[in-house]
Amino acid sequence: MDRVRGNSAQPPTLIVPYRTLLVLCGPAGCGKSTFAQQIVTRNKPGDFQNTMIVSSDTCRALISDNEANQQVNRDTFDLFYYIIGKRMYQNRFTIADSTALQPDARQRLLDLAERHHYYKHLFIFDVSFETCMQRDQQRKRRVGEQVITYHSSLLKQALLDTPGEKWDGRSLLNEQSMNAGIEVTLK
Ligand code: ATP
Ligand code: MG
Repeated sequence: MDRVRGNSAQPPTLIVPYRTLLVLCGPAGCGKSTFAQQIVTRNKPGDFQNTMIVSSDTCRALISDNEANQQVNRDTFDLFYYIIGKRMYQNRFTIADSTALQPDARQRLLDLAERHHYYKHLFIFDVSFETCMQRDQQRKRRVGEQVITYHSSLLKQALLDTPGEKWDGRSLLNEQSMNAGIEVTLK
């Protein structure tokens, strides 16, 4: 796994094929959506657009007008995978913004990407429980301590499991490297 370093003057560059599924994986509140947005904004108005980010929370909102509604998980993820699949059918670069902490969730994304012969890159956000709690407190939509405790334990397991999964590339981010950002280039 490539540990992304955040202490150099220039942010590191990740070069991936255009037909890539970039999967974000990390606890609630760690900063995945913010990071995805930065990838798009940083590179605008070049290769990147907001529509490249497919977010499970946005899918929740699209069907229930509430991005925190946990009662619609099944339909939310039906829609999430459906959109990602349709994007791949159109050969579009795609960022999957969900926690992807459950092995099944990552497997589903891996299968989808494999079916479409996509490059599969995983960004793991190795962010501490304390930082996630702090960031969660600072935002409007809060998930709370219980969820973040659970997600932190899933993250520990994901750090052990993901090297054995079929990712073409993996990047490990922490608080420091998240702040430095990453330059994504599509080839
Ligand atoms: P969820 O899984 O619940 O959607 P998330 O991982 O997408 O969470 P964000 O919503 O992106 O997390 O970020 C949570 C909060 O932390 C936001 O208020 C955001 O502004 C803040 N935040 C994100 N990244 C950073 C950072 N690098 N430094 C400081 N604060 C950050
Ligand atoms: Mg988010």
